[in-house]
Amino acid sequence: MAQIVILGAGIAGHTAAMVLQKKLKRTEHKVVVISPKPTWNWVPSNIWVGTGRMKREKVIFELAPLYKKLGIEFHQAAATALYPEGDAENPRSQVELVYTDATRNGETARVEFDYLINATGPKLNFAATPGLGPDEGYTQSVCTDSHAEECSAEFLKAVERMKAGENLRFVIGTGAGNCTCQGAAFEFTFNTEHELREHGVRDKAEVVYLTNEPQLGDLGVGGMKFKQDGYMTSSQLWTESIFRERGVKAIVGAAVKNVEKNSLTYEDSDGEMHSLDYDFAMLLPPFTGVPMKAYNRAGEDISATVFNPAGFMKVDADYTQKPYEQWRAVDWPKTYQNPTYPNMFAVGIAFAPPHGISKPHTTKNGTVIAPAPPRTGQPSGVMAAKVAESIVDLLKNPNAKLHEASMGTLGAVCDASTGANMRSGSAAAIMMYPIIPDETVYPETGRHPTLTRGELGLFGHWVKVMLHYLFIYKAKGKPGWNLIPE
Ligand SMILES: Cc1cc2nc3c(=O)[nH]c(=O)nc-3n(C[C@H](O)[C@H](O)[C@H](O)COP(=O)(O)OP(=O)(O)OC[C@H]3O[C@@H](n4cnc5c(N)ncnc54)[C@H](O)[C@@H]3O)c2cc1C
Repeated sequence: MAQIVILGAGIAGHTAAMVLQKKLKRTEHKVVVISPKPTWNWVPSNIWVGTGRMKREKVIFELAPLYKKLGIEFHQAAATALYPEGDAENPRSQVELVYTDATRNGETARVEFDYLINATGPKLNFAATPGLGPDEGYTQSVCTDSHAEECSAEFLKAVERMKAGENLRFVIGTGAGNCTCQGAAFEFTFNTEHELREHGVRDKAEVVYLTNEPQLGDLGVGGMKFKQDGYMTSSQLWTESIFRERGVKAIVGAAVKNVEKNSLTYEDSDGEMHSLDYDFAMLLPPFTGVPMKAYNRAGEDISATVFNPAGFMKVDADYTQKPYEQWRAVDWPKTYQNPTYPNMFAVGIAFAPPHGISKPHTTKNGTVIAPAPPRTGQPSGVMAAKVAESIVDLLKNPNAKLHEASMGTLGAVCDASTGANMRSGSAAAIMMYPIIPDETVYPETGRHPTLTRGELGLFGHWVKVMLHYLFIYKAKGKPGWNLIPE
């Protein structure tokens, strides 16, 4: 009997668990999930929770009853260390964990594994910028369901102040020079703008989008060029016109350096420092890998072999250091297998990307302003499902060919909706194919010129609403869940 351990029950980890359970349920193999929170969260809908449009309970559900029903062993715990070679007493691969549930909180344990999927997502590194974040700082976040709930309380307080006659400034964007997930910041900006109108206070609010992107529409993927109505256009032009239409101001190429109550400091791409006052701020943090160590059988620290310096797990990517101009789509991983320990894989945000996609910039002060590459929900789900299928095949044949899912051949959609109303909602949807531009296949623009596109309107909003219900249905393992694509 083999034991397959999945670290993390987010979009990637839960997908892997569900696929493995489905494919292995009539075998003797066991699927184990280790994750510190008791709930699953449909993160994309946190956007609606953050403005008070949707209740937090609508974007989460309890994992333990589902896993019990499906026969998946669940440990509500955080993984802290990997022992891929086992240790002096036990040669089997192991993961060390610390429980976070009410009964065993703080207890440590080890779980053996034959195969491991690391899907731990990001550590939200608010500490990178002094004063950033809701826990020890002054800004809001929508990265987790609890953050989004706190954010909605602050948002609604601001709305009440405007109703009482005050004029307020809303600053939304990225909280450091190396942040990712600009799509989420872009979406929250437009939701905020929409909700302010719904509350009848839009004229009292200034909305500012503050981002590390070198220009609007970059989205951490270097921007897009695409054909629309027979003309070549770009995500920059497209995004700028939406910002103009909605009266949202934009500050691009900015690295937030420090946040105080109601005021922040940022450095621009020329290395000049600016101060910006705010009344409400939602700034995304930079991501690192979750804190985890790795040890060999002798107990020596091999973390630098298993993880990159930011704590993301190394996989089958080309990590050779080279100039931006030489980065290629083929550098990106395909199988997500760790090169040193082939029984370990990393998917979703947990794998170490070989390089950024947007062009990095260093200011005269040495500050690096470089949007980190996004690893959004759709590709995270696809790569998790493919790794699960690889493991199923490896259990039958140790020499089986691994399934592939490179971001150089996967597409993605950034569907930035405004409001959750089926008649008055709207969405700015940007589709890209592939995620990593590939000039060897698409010499002119790096991406497919018509599969890459932007759409504005109610339809994109319906898609976003449909995805909310569809993916929660799928994650709950309801009848036919496996027929819904990632
Ligand atoms: C506000 C917002 C909106 C977004 N909207 C979209 C969208 O519209 N479309 C889209 O495609 N993408 C969107 N994304 C991105 C998408 O949410 C992520 O790409 C996706 O969640 C990544 O999945 P993941 O499983 O790698 O990480 P996560 O979903 O973050 O899951 C990580 C899991 O690991 C667990 N974990 C953490 N530490 C440990 C540990 N030590 N041991 C074990 N488990 C651990 C966590 O509790 C969690 O269960 C959005 C992101 C944000 C923040």
